[in-house]
Amino acid sequence: MLLITCPVCSIAGDETEFTCGGLYTAPGDQRVYARGISREWWLCESGCGSWFGLARHTGNQRISAIWVPGEEPDALPGEIA
Ligand SMILES: [Zn+2]
Repeated sequence: MLLITCPVCSIAGDETEFTCGGLYTAPGDQRVYARGISREWWLCESGCGSWFGLARHTGNQRISAIWVPGEEPDALPGEIA
């Protein structure tokens, strides 16, 4: 289970209270899921309705960063290039 805190309204919950919008990529980017840290779009469905970014490891599910669009973190250790 993922425990997520919305970076916009600070509501916290598990992934069932949010919606994953797929990989956080630029339009036309053909990146696919692979083992490692992956950036995804998530929607704060139970709270403010904002989209935000989340980086998690696709193996152990550990979340390493959450951000609002425009404040993307620099490259994260273990991130898939
Ligand atoms: Zn929110």
